[in-house]
Amino acid sequence: MAQAIDRFGRVINYLRISLTDKCNLRCVYCMDEDMVFKPSSALLQDDELMLLVRVFASLGFHKYRLTGGEPTVRQNIVDIVRGIASTPGVHNLSMTTNGILLDRLAKPLAEAGLQRVNISIDTVDPERFHKITRWGKLEDVWRGIAAAEEAGLTPIKLNAVVVRGFNDQDVTELAKLTLDHPWQVRFIEMMPFGDVADFARSAVVTDQEIRDRIAAEYMPLELLYDGRLDGEARLYRFPGAKGEVGFISTVTQPFCASCNRARLTADGVLRLCLLRDREVDLLTPLRSGATEDELRQIILDGIWHKPWGHGLAENVVPLSRVMSQIGG
Ligand code: SAM
Ligand code: SF4
Repeated sequence: MAQAIDRFGRVINYLRISLTDKCNLRCVYCMDEDMVFKPSSALLQDDELMLLVRVFASLGFHKYRLTGGEPTVRQNIVDIVRGIASTPGVHNLSMTTNGILLDRLAKPLAEAGLQRVNISIDTVDPERFHKITRWGKLEDVWRGIAAAEEAGLTPIKLNAVVVRGFNDQDVTELAKLTLDHPWQVRFIEMMPFGDVADFARSAVVTDQEIRDRIAAEYMPLELLYDGRLDGEARLYRFPGAKGEVGFISTVTQPFCASCNRARLTADGVLRLCLLRDREVDLLTPLRSGATEDELRQIILDGIWHKPWGHGLAENVVPLSRVMSQIGG
């Protein structure tokens, strides 16, 4: 079987698929309030998506994460999950979601073959949650988390982007959720994108600052596994806690050397690095009748040219898309 390898020798076998650019929230660090979404016809249709997944799986991509926008607002989401989960070669299927719709979707998604979810929750304070998401209700997320646990979409990982002036005062309470729950609470450093780049740069909170704050307000976290990365996260724990606290510090501590990912955007573009604008259009050849072999070759060529890493330190910021159009 052909394998997708880049010119630095990295084997790329993890595909993050953005199922839609649309969302039922408007997080301040992710998109403008009056965000304009693409018409559905410009997005990969279900059959086109399934074909591409088949092609990626035939190139050794075995790990998949569904994201968005908000993946649960995509029509036919349960059927899409079932289709991807049953594609030969797909071994690991998870989703990143804001959790709002999991109350009713967790069980059918689990039955369709979804294995795990990461749920975004930036604060445990309902008012601040409303402010950071512009209109979300925190109680919906708690219900979603409970439904995910009950459906067996575990281990549950909770993602929090820390934004100065919005939720930096919540990091200790978020971390303390791990005392009694077997969850991994992960603090994600805010990244600059397109229209929200200036905001992201001015309000970023580093992982060291978060750890210092947690130590001052409660107790220090203990580093786990000698600091080795678990995926993209460095893990810590409070002594005796049931869960773990992770830090994803893409900006200050890049993990590009071990990157094994590629991204498929909702409009059918292969994005080679989250934070670089270099992309390969798959939708146009797909709609002009390219064969699966031809698509395989386009993907292999694209992956070969995957950039080494991001250029944030040199002030190179991705401008062509915001996070919701890539999926994180
Ligand atoms: N809607 C889903 C959600 O919020 O989980 C999935 C898509 S969202 C784009 C994926 C992840 O990216 C979320 O955890 C979100 O908090 C994070 N994110 C969005 N904008 C970001 C930014 N500028 N920097 C860092 N993380 C960001
Ligand atoms: Fe929507 Fe997720 Fe972006 Fe928030 S982070 S606006 S939930 S896509």
